Amino acid sequence: MAWYDRHARDLPWRRTHDPYAIWVSEIMLQQTQVATVIDYFHRFLAAYPDVRSLASAEEQSVLRLWSGLGYYRRARQLHAAAKQIVARGGEFPKSLDEILSLPGIGRYTAGAIASFAYDQPAPIVEANTQRLFSRLIRLEIDPRSRDGQAQLWSFAGSLVDESADVQVVKAPPLKTQPTLSPGRINQAVMELGSQICTPRDPDCPNCPLSRLCPTFAAGLQTTLPIAAPKKVITDLTHIALLIRKPSDENLVLMRQNAEDEWWHGLWDLPRVDVSHSAEFHAAAFVSSGAAPGKPIPALEFDWLAGAFHAEHALNCAVGDYHGSWKHAVTRYRIALHAFAATLAPRTRIRPPFAWHSIAEALDLPLTAPAKRLLRSLQ
Ligand code: SF4
Repeated sequence: MAWYDRHARDLPWRRTHDPYAIWVSEIMLQQTQVATVIDYFHRFLAAYPDVRSLASAEEQSVLRLWSGLGYYRRARQLHAAAKQIVARGGEFPKSLDEILSLPGIGRYTAGAIASFAYDQPAPIVEANTQRLFSRLIRLEIDPRSRDGQAQLWSFAGSLVDESADVQVVKAPPLKTQPTLSPGRINQAVMELGSQICTPRDPDCPNCPLSRLCPTFAAGLQTTLPIAAPKKVITDLTHIALLIRKPSDENLVLMRQNAEDEWWHGLWDLPRVDVSHSAEFHAAAFVSSGAAPGKPIPALEFDWLAGAFHAEHALNCAVGDYHGSWKHAVTRYRIALHAFAATLAPRTRIRPPFAWHSIAEALDLPLTAPAKRLLRSLQ
């Protein structure tokens, strides 16, 4: 705790005991780095300062503020949970079980809210503490296994439970006694895990727990915890079409993703997946000398127009190459190639398609690649 008092980073969600703000920060921090979250957190709280304002917001506005953070399901569940809280009277729940019953809140997030906001002795295990605790108890089985998780949660519980039979190590006297509370203990172990007990190269000589650490004593700090099996990454190839309205070149055709699709509710340019298209790969796109703004004479793209017709019932002719972007979704790595295209005369546009000016489109909740593509047009 003395180490934490000296080294804690000053993060905006650490300055508050408001369970709503802590909840928002915890949901944003899932799968996303602290440096990225800070701006989103400020913007979100400025727009929705409390649970009631979030509950009464339009889902599209919530998604727009989330745009770029990814994993949009988190934003939807946050919104749904805010509505549930308001339906139950509007006060953020205090008990761990009630917090856990909200959509999108798992055991870790519930423990974080209960301990950071209310100082309840609720344990936490997330990525940083999982690694730290695995080393502190020299866990030699997979920490993600059922038995591994049981041992880690039990250890986490012993840290915040005053009645637990934990060994107290006599520390040198301190000028000021650090504050001991479950919330601060949990923050401190998370901070130690993220700043000192790092995945590849833990800074054991500067770790305040090095005297207690059996993993360090055995020189196993780069071996434990046992690594997760490597994620298999699948490469995908998508084509997006940049279609301008014939009667008004300022308008581009946008499409809102349906419920059963990736990026549900977000707007994107019309796109198709050509990962398994023999035509696309036979066309040797990359080696054809593709350059933005140029047609690709070596390629015959009638099949691509056919693919858009099959997927979206759009009749169009594919034209110049516009550019390529890479992005990732869960275990997929997507190469997105964009082409200009023209619609067949008298094509009727109806939902989920709509015409938008680029400025208007940039104000919609957009997929990250659509945002980059539209910005490239500005
Ligand atoms: S001594 Fe090293 S391995 Fe052990 S907790 Fe500290 S940083 Fe982690």
